[in-house]
Amino acid sequence: MRRDIVHIGSDQLSYEIRGIVEIAERIESLGQDIYWENVGDPINKGQKIPTWMKEIVKSKIDDDYSWGYCPTKGLKETREFLANRANKKSSSKLTPDDILFFNGLGDAISKVYGLLKRESRIIGPSPAYPTHSSAEGAHSGYEQVTYKLDPKNNWIPDLEDIRNKIKYNDSIVGILIINPDNPTGMVYPKEILEEIVKLAKEFNLFIISDEIYGDLTFNNRRAISMSELIKDVPTIIMKGISKELPWPGSRCGWIEIYNKNIDSNFKRYIKSIIDSKMLEVCSTTLPQASIPELLSSNKYDEFLKERTKEVEKRANYIYETLKDVKGIIVNKVYGAFYYSIVFEEGVLNNKQKLNINNPKIKSLIEERVKGVSNDRRFVYYLLGSTGICVVPLTSFSSNLEGFRMTLLEKDFEKFKWIVNTLKSTIINYLNSNII
Ligand code: PLP
Repeated sequence: MRRDIVHIGSDQLSYEIRGIVEIAERIESLGQDIYWENVGDPINKGQKIPTWMKEIVKSKIDDDYSWGYCPTKGLKETREFLANRANKKSSSKLTPDDILFFNGLGDAISKVYGLLKRESRIIGPSPAYPTHSSAEGAHSGYEQVTYKLDPKNNWIPDLEDIRNKIKYNDSIVGILIINPDNPTGMVYPKEILEEIVKLAKEFNLFIISDEIYGDLTFNNRRAISMSELIKDVPTIIMKGISKELPWPGSRCGWIEIYNKNIDSNFKRYIKSIIDSKMLEVCSTTLPQASIPELLSSNKYDEFLKERTKEVEKRANYIYETLKDVKGIIVNKVYGAFYYSIVFEEGVLNNKQKLNINNPKIKSLIEERVKGVSNDRRFVYYLLGSTGICVVPLTSFSSNLEGFRMTLLEKDFEKFKWIVNTLKSTIINYLNSNII
């Protein structure tokens, strides 16, 4: 092949949450047990699916229609169910026709950015969940324009930063917010969301609000949906069942489109998303068929409460264990199931290291840390010396050095061991070479 055939945006594709698995597996093959704290998959971490849920899904399998294609937008009854559910709170009415199903929210994300004009940019948070930042970057060929989430201010979006970037960059057509947030675990206060709506209105932007963790909150916080505040601002709300149900293997997510008729350009853009879905015929039928019964069961609320209580216990354990450790910033968290720990500026350098007893693992890590960012260096040493597998924060479109771990380990004794090992490892690492 003599001509360059690669899309200009391909350099923007990166998903370290799974990328780190390759090195972790090599270390595992050299005899080290691995503690997987990288991927947010509750099933992988031992979450048992209750029998009542399985019975509902089995009954749908018995219905032959669940084996067929469904309408492009998704099963009508399910969209009616979801629209009714959303309308209990929303400030602007949603009809079943304003809902569009995808094969997982990841699929929705790539379509939503992919169908924007190349010059049209969506400003998103930093740190950022990489599926968003990569898809946005891939569509435009440049890194996503980002606004800061401030670890010294409870991970709250820096509104001044958003305003300045929007004001001086007229290619920005929309703002992305993820609430509750991945990777920070923060749930935003109403005033901040209201300010984002005001900015969208002032600068004629549309809003994308990823609410896939919307019902997974704790420490007495509720996640306020953007639908409650937007009034007449064109908005796409993203939801799914991968995290809350949890059924990530169903590959089922959807978008709710608000105020599409208010702006003719937004309306055309939405039409293009629906048309592109039509080319694929439709999304997975079985999970859609199961959603109304699953989500309306009174056992579902109980189940969610139980799960969020467990996540709350683990989150608060991290906070209590690490909050006084010198050199790191640790915030209390309120939603989703992740924790991001940030190293204070300047405490990391490229000389620090940890003891690794196994000589083969030691030489593998020493090879891998050459030339990498300082937080990745820490993450690799942590992996080599303890087997704990986390993700460097700089791989979430961020300049902040740190790491993200999950809050999904079911065995609390094991979880405590992981957190306490992290604590001693951070202290040892920071003291290993002070320059
Ligand atoms: N949005 C956020 C914020 C996520 O954390 C994830 C998955 O981790 C997704 C979207 C994608 O979810 P899905 O499994 O539906 O593709």
